[in-house]
Amino acid sequence: MMTGLNKTLIKQTFITLVLVVLASAQSRGQGESLDGREGRNLAIGNFRPKPTLKVRQTALEKALFPVVDVHTHFRYRFKHDLGKLDEYVELMDKHNIAVCCSLDGKLGDTLDTHLEYLGTKYPSRFVVFANVDWQGEGDQDNPSSWACHQPGFAEKTARQLQLAVGHGVSGLKLFKQFGLSYKNPDGSWMKIDDPRWDPIWKACGQLGIPVIIHTADPIAFFRPIDETNERWEELFRHPEWSFPPDKYPSRELLLQARNRVIERHPETIFIGAHMANSSEDLMTVAGWLDKYPNLYVEFASRIGELGRQPYTARQFFLKYSDRILFGTDGPWPELRLTYYWRFLETYDEYFPYSEKEFPPQGFWRIYGIGLPPRVLRQIYYENACRIIPGVKSKVSNYRR
Ligand SMILES: [Zn+2]
Repeated sequence: MMTGLNKTLIKQTFITLVLVVLASAQSRGQGESLDGREGRNLAIGNFRPKPTLKVRQTALEKALFPVVDVHTHFRYRFKHDLGKLDEYVELMDKHNIAVCCSLDGKLGDTLDTHLEYLGTKYPSRFVVFANVDWQGEGDQDNPSSWACHQPGFAEKTARQLQLAVGHGVSGLKLFKQFGLSYKNPDGSWMKIDDPRWDPIWKACGQLGIPVIIHTADPIAFFRPIDETNERWEELFRHPEWSFPPDKYPSRELLLQARNRVIERHPETIFIGAHMANSSEDLMTVAGWLDKYPNLYVEFASRIGELGRQPYTARQFFLKYSDRILFGTDGPWPELRLTYYWRFLETYDEYFPYSEKEFPPQGFWRIYGIGLPPRVLRQIYYENACRIIPGVKSKVSNYRR
């Protein structure tokens, strides 16, 4: 039986525990009171500084030249809603976006549904990239049941891709799960440069379609979530975006494996999505572009990173103007598009890179890199016309 003294002790311990939890919640910034007012401390999640800087703000309502957005997700974001598609095409007209590449085509019947969604009403405004169906009908939790681990998978995928190109598909997109989440039957990570996939990369070269590949993620996502992480605030809101080294393959190993694939398949064009996922380190990206003539990059969702290093970024864009493609990761709200135009076309200073109230990819603002018209043309549409089948005729049609 519990004595009165014991009961009191338990009660007191419980109260102390609750107080400790409350205090630590407050120190983590979850407490309402850390608002920075009247001498109180300020939690980083409550910090909303409004710049007092007075500098030129260029109101750009559209891009200077027709744009090909090579990185969009129309299936994922619009879920085949026709009304949303109509609205976005209106926005494309307004902002001078000639063509969008939807990277969510998938393969087989689902691919045809997506081609129909985008192509029926707007045959000259979209191209579609297919995706490899690694898991097939297999059980998600049991990799040995996945399609990709059955004999002849890559050859079968190559044949499906050939059919897909016959249906009008313009490229192949690989998502970051390829490298960061897919497993082999023995529980090891599926390797990006596993020779089993070689027939797929080879087929893309033979079919003349580029492979846009998202490998790894920003450096900060592979670092511990602590007070030294410059994207702490974002990782605090999205802990699932963190890839700690004890649980995931390292960023360096993933990028090296991707590069070995690019090197082994010089006849295939690869587009490194999100600035080959090294926008924090353009010197390294430059080295890759020098080494692999079949590599291109696009900068979807990376103006936040590029725009905080405007001198380096400008030099990079001038030097590699024939290897860089325009991408957004959209469809996005209109305001986000205007930030892309301002980043590329103006010398505006210290402006947001996102319409969101709190900067979603690092707590900073960006600077424009004022590219000359010759380079803007290449990045906005000329490079895409050269390497993505179907784009050139659509752009000429748009300009007429
Ligand atoms: Zn994307």
